[in-house]
Amino acid sequence: MPYQTINPFNNKLIKEYQTHNDKQVEEALATAHALYKSDWAQGDIQQRVKVLHKLSDIMSSRVDELAKVVSVEMGKLIEQSRGEVQICADIAKFYAEKAEEFLKPVPYKSDLGEAWVEHHPIGVIMAVEPWNFPFYQLMRVLAPNLASGNSVIVKHASIVPHCAETFEKLVAEAGAPKGTYTNLFISQDQVATIIDDDRVQGVALTGSEKAGAIVAARAAGKLKKSTLELGGNDVFAVLDDADIDKAAKAGAQARVSNAGQVCTAAKRFIIHEKVADEFLKKFTEHFRALKMGDPLDKSTTLGPLSSADAVKTLSKQVDDAVKHGAKLHFGGKKVSDNPGNFFEPTILTHITRDNPAYFEEFFGPVAQVYVVKNDEELVKLANDSHYGLGGSVFTKDMNRARKLASQIETGMVYVNSPTDTAAELPFGGVKRSGFGRELSDLGIKEFVNQKLVVLA
Ligand code: NDP
Repeated sequence: MPYQTINPFNNKLIKEYQTHNDKQVEEALATAHALYKSDWAQGDIQQRVKVLHKLSDIMSSRVDELAKVVSVEMGKLIEQSRGEVQICADIAKFYAEKAEEFLKPVPYKSDLGEAWVEHHPIGVIMAVEPWNFPFYQLMRVLAPNLASGNSVIVKHASIVPHCAETFEKLVAEAGAPKGTYTNLFISQDQVATIIDDDRVQGVALTGSEKAGAIVAARAAGKLKKSTLELGGNDVFAVLDDADIDKAAKAGAQARVSNAGQVCTAAKRFIIHEKVADEFLKKFTEHFRALKMGDPLDKSTTLGPLSSADAVKTLSKQVDDAVKHGAKLHFGGKKVSDNPGNFFEPTILTHITRDNPAYFEEFFGPVAQVYVVKNDEELVKLANDSHYGLGGSVFTKDMNRARKLASQIETGMVYVNSPTDTAAELPFGGVKRSGFGRELSDLGIKEFVNQKLVVLA
């Protein structure tokens, strides 16, 4: 795949980027590994968290400029891009403030003597990242690994090279030595070669199941640990006692934010039969009120999809769903009188288990609405999924909410809120949504040597 910036709002090619050759890949590996062996990585954490503080300050002070880079390259609404830049600054600050505490030695009581576990970096981490949050995904990997002393090499998605290059420059500007964070415009074969290299000791991927399976298998073949953050088909459950106005508004936003291209977006709306008609009516009104347009225009509420291919895939999925008996309640088509990658906000109902749509993730503004009779049926339907990333339950009854939250098979459940993210909270899933966690104290422990020392 060529590395190109194409504005999804009008499909105009802005820039094509030169790829890195094998010699440059070897140089990147050598530099990253030498840094890991140096006092920078093995020594005092304060020198590394200083860079994270600076990076946070830089990003906070340049929100407008950086947000524009995101919006022009992958079509995110400008306010959402601003939010993405700000959360990156928050993540950098969080690890700057907390990493030392997370990585301090943990004492263990034992009859064998005085014992503790200390935390050490393990080497170079290879990260493969997607385009949907083109800065946030990078920061999730960089911040904890920079703090712990690992070097990071990244292959970003081929449709967001400007974000990739910009982020690398920001890390350097914050004072990180060469090799801390290296962006490479490389092929899938070159990624495989890097994973095979002994200097690489961990692999992190966010993206599709297909890419995750290939990359994790490659890592496993060399007995290396990987973390995977893959797709999701998150449930947005609305119980019969929920505040329907609030649920309909939050649900619509949770489906169309980032034009629906979010792994933890609400995708399957499971509604109690007593409130199904009212919910669907109000939910549809929110979809009807969406205004498609330029992501840089603040009045736009639904931006384009990230690429022309994404529109093709989504159109085919919706057509197939309808062929297999789903009812098109709202929308359903690519917007044809526009050069950009626009797809109508869409609501599908009457999806049966034999419809391929039942198990598929729709990476765009397409909601599936299901109706259930009771909580038992809700849990059964929610868990009848290959995925297990996030999920939401809307209800006024907190006991019912707690019970459902523990019964739903996902890595995250939010009550009376769409699935969200924050630096201090773990992020990740189960089943085909992947394994491992990013962010929080759990994220920084994924790629460290938790070394036991016993003084007998
Ligand atoms: P991909 O999984 O193909 O892309 C994600 C990243 O993986 C990109 O950097 C991509 O590079 C890279 N990649 C893909 N295949 C390989 C491979 N064999 N070896 C090494 N690197 C690889 O996602 P798409 O962008 O194609 O999106 C397809 C679907 O994936 C979406 O519809 C959605 O379901 C899911 N997805 C989920 C995301 C999430 O947040 N969990 C994010 C993005 C996508 P390149 O760009 O060069 O192909």
